[in-house]
Formats: sequence, structure tokens, C-alpha cells
Amino acid sequence: MIDFDDKIAVAVSGGKDSVSLLHILAKIERKHPKAELVAITVDEGIKGYRDEALKIAAENCRKLGIEHRVVSFKELFGYTFDQMTKRLKRKGGNRLTPCAYCGVLRRKALNVVAREIKADKLATAHTLDDETQTILLNIFHGDVLRIAKEKPVTDEVHPKLVRKIKPFCEIPEREAALYAMVKDIRFQSEPCPYASEALRNDARMMLNRLEEKHPGMKFAIFNSIKRIRPALEEMAKKEELKECSECGEPTTDNICRTCQMRKQIE
Ligand SMILES: [Zn+2]
Repeated sequence: MIDFDDKIAVAVSGGKDSVSLLHILAKIERKHPKAELVAITVDEGIKGYRDEALKIAAENCRKLGIEHRVVSFKELFGYTFDQMTKRLKRKGGNRLTPCAYCGVLRRKALNVVAREIKADKLATAHTLDDETQTILLNIFHGDVLRIAKEKPVTDEVHPKLVRKIKPFCEIPEREAALYAMVKDIRFQSEPCPYASEALRNDARMMLNRLEEKHPGMKFAIFNSIKRIRPALEEMAKKEELKECSECGEPTTDNICRTCQMRKQIE
């Protein structure tokens, strides 16, 4: 995933997975003088929640001596997430969950900053649990070609898209948490007040129940997908990346998902 001279941007939300990843990457980076590590935190503008996480992320970066960048929805998209959800609520008739909006905007924000600082890779702390849940969700939504795109190391598909890596993709969530606890690392444990992904919760419970009865299930699902992914990628190849007619960011549509959402919000 990582080359010896990579500049790595790491997304740090302040939760257990991302602070553990930050500490582990910092440890690896110290042994590679040509490598560089920068932490990025997205401030969505969620009152009473993000403020504490920001402090925790900053504190961890300071202790490790890592440069810390903060980017906010407000400065990038004109509204805080609290303001966006209020506006969307007023309009009504939205079939997307707050998490769906936030996810798209956060990914965009991370890419913008990673590109600005000229990072070679953007690391996120998605765990084995996140990955297997997402695989099931894509199947539940009938969106199987997405599985091809969301792989542990993305290819260089467009000069404006920083390559993404998921170093924890084969690490169970509980082990990431254990690392933080054993190492006595401070993290935010409070859940996001908007967390409302009903289907993801069902997938999580289903997977956890399976794993408990039949240990190794999550790895089996992850590895099965790894094997069939090349075939899915072949199918997905037809979708060419263009540039959004509104903002110029890479997209498969004429207008990117961020701009589509922004129009809905406005
Ligand atoms: Zn756009």
C-alpha cells in the first residue's frame, strides 16, 4: 500500500479506528526518512460532537509531532452539516440518510485537502467490519459495480483523485479498539448524533451474529470479494471519468454527486 517515499495524508476523525491508524502510521513513518505524514480532520459542523473530536485529533497529532490540517464543510460548501440537514428537512421528501450526504461531502473534502498538500496516498481507517458491511450494502442496494471501485488500494484513475488506501481493511474493528486501549490512546467514543443508517446497522448485526457463531465469516466474505473483484472491475471499466460541469471534479455523471447534493441543499 505504501512506498518508502510516499507523502501520506491520513484521515483522522478522532474515533478509535482513526487514532489507532494515526499512531501506527506514525510509528512506521519514523523508520522512513523520505516518507511524510499529514493528518486531516474534516469539521462537518456538528455541534456538541465534532468539537470534542477535533480536540482529540489535534492532541494526538501534537503528541506524535504530526502536521494537522482541518477542513470544514462551512468553508468548502458554504454550510455546516447542521445547517444542511435543517435545510433538507424543511424541503422534505429526501430518500437519502444524513450519513449518505455526509459521506459524499467528507470524501470530497478529504480529497481536496490531500490534493492540495500533494499527498501520494490518502489513508482511511476503514476496518474489516466497515468493508464487509459496505460489501453487503452494495449488494442490498443492487449496486454491485461499486464493489469494484471501493477496493483497499485504488488505482490512479484521474490526476485530481488522490489514491486511497485502507491499511486496516483486514483488521477487525475490535482489534483497532483494543490497540487504542492497550496503548492508552485517547479517542472519542461518543457516537455521531446523526448516525441513522438503519440498513448498515442491520448488516453490522447480521455480520456480528454470523461471526460469533462461525468465526472467520468476515474474512471469508472479504476474501471472496477480493477474488471476484477483477471480474467486476472489467465490467465497471465502461464507465469513463469526466469532469463535473459545475466544479470540475472527477465524476462519472455530467454533474458530480457533491454538486447534485449541494443543489438539493440550496
Ligand atoms: Zn461538481
